[in-house]
Amino acid sequence: MKTNTAVKTLQHFIGGEWVDAETNATFEVLNPLDDSLYANAAKGTGGDMRKAVAAAKSAFSGYRETLPKDRERWLLRVAEIMEARKAELLDCLIDEIGSPIQKAMFEFEKGLTMVRAAAGLCRNVRGETIPSDAPGKFSMSIREPLGVVAVITPFNVPLIKTTRLVANALAVGNTVVHLPSEMAPHLSLLFASIVAEAGFPEGTYNVVTGYGHEIGDALTGHKDVDFVTFTGSSVIGQHINEICARNKTRNTLELGGKSPTLVMADADLDKAVPLAARSIFMFGGQACIGSSRFYVERPVYDEFVKRFAMITSKVGMGDLRDPNTVIAPIISQRQRQRVKDHIADAVAKGATIVTGGEWEGNRCQPTLMTGVTEEMTVCKSETFGPVTSIYPIDSYEEGLEKANDTDYGLSSAIFTKNIDRAFHFARNIGAGMCHINGPTIHDEAHVPFGGNGESGVGREGTDADMEAMTELKWVTIQL
Ligand code: NAD
Repeated sequence: MKTNTAVKTLQHFIGGEWVDAETNATFEVLNPLDDSLYANAAKGTGGDMRKAVAAAKSAFSGYRETLPKDRERWLLRVAEIMEARKAELLDCLIDEIGSPIQKAMFEFEKGLTMVRAAAGLCRNVRGETIPSDAPGKFSMSIREPLGVVAVITPFNVPLIKTTRLVANALAVGNTVVHLPSEMAPHLSLLFASIVAEAGFPEGTYNVVTGYGHEIGDALTGHKDVDFVTFTGSSVIGQHINEICARNKTRNTLELGGKSPTLVMADADLDKAVPLAARSIFMFGGQACIGSSRFYVERPVYDEFVKRFAMITSKVGMGDLRDPNTVIAPIISQRQRQRVKDHIADAVAKGATIVTGGEWEGNRCQPTLMTGVTEEMTVCKSETFGPVTSIYPIDSYEEGLEKANDTDYGLSSAIFTKNIDRAFHFARNIGAGMCHINGPTIHDEAHVPFGGNGESGVGREGTDADMEAMTELKWVTIQL
């Protein structure tokens, strides 16, 4: 990989080699802080994608025979090399996608955990013995890797998603073709160089960069792709789901969200308010599990709004390498316009901006709104910026009903001291994840992470990925 100049030149990684696009074309990757040129990356074609799938398919026959101890050793080596190259990974997270150092560090530590947890998975690809009605028949299930796994990742948490999905796929014996976000190709290519350095055989992990809308179908619709794991927007998820349905390709979809938080009158506001801020402003609100709806019981509504506004006005917006900075630039012109449109539409229709709403360069100030109604786009659609709405509720029942009034179903949270109510919420919220007295933003390597409805299909995490990325086979022995 040629990365030693100020503006980087990025190539695909196919079959263990760094290669240009077959057309030699490139596209620009911009630093979102100031839109300066960060890299020129290979602009992949369908042909490049087919080469990568062929490389992964050819590597699979040998790779599936590797031993758990080999895959475990390689993955643990990946973690060691990540630690040795930490500064490089952090710089990439800061300069390629505008991560404040705080978020970059968080992502780095999570990424390490993802890889180490995947190493543990290598020894856990298990079937079971099954009682048989046939005399003398020994019956069992075994798990086998599927083959070529297509990994498609978004821009916002490229290291977490790349480490988790690539490492889990490799741990259970699959090979991988990865299409990273066109806004974050460098991070995945750095990971590819680490995977190669760790000793994984050539062709086991391939990365093709380019515009997803141009080359994505060549990957997801390829007959030799056995599984697709996609993280990104709901619209593209729907498109991929349709392609996979036609080809009967299994898939996991991790999509957008509009995650609610309930704050009940008995909540500990000293804890709830800082966690509320954390749950929406991290990385400038560009988090699928960010909480963009707060339903607050009336007795504490005014106090909650007052304290939330106070904390919000102090959220750090300084240098990205300052540990106090939280607010990131919004990734692209198109996304900035979306955030602006959501705020303008709400204000035009009568919402009140309690704090924020203005822009400093490509960064939107952390913004709280009240008086938001169903006619406003921000009420139901994903904004993907540092913008959240606070709604008063008269009862828990009203809060639950409003929280469930969405097509999404990713994360959720409730702050209360009432354990019965907390559990009732956990059982009845239509989301894939629920956090009691904690923020909607939470993830761990081994939990079933994912959502329902417009938020996706399936779960990811070590156990969930092991099940999704392997096939059960029934085997009997007549004794
Ligand atoms: P996006 O949907 O624009 O892009 C995601 C990926 O899809 C990119 O790699 C892109 O190249 C690829 N792509 C585009 N068209 C394609 C096609 N036709 N076929 C195959 N791939 C194609 O999303 P984004 O802007 O990068 O990320 C933000 C979105 O991701 C938000 O909606 C957010 O909620 C969601 N997200 C979800 C999770 C989760 O775990 N549920 C995590 C992070 C982000």
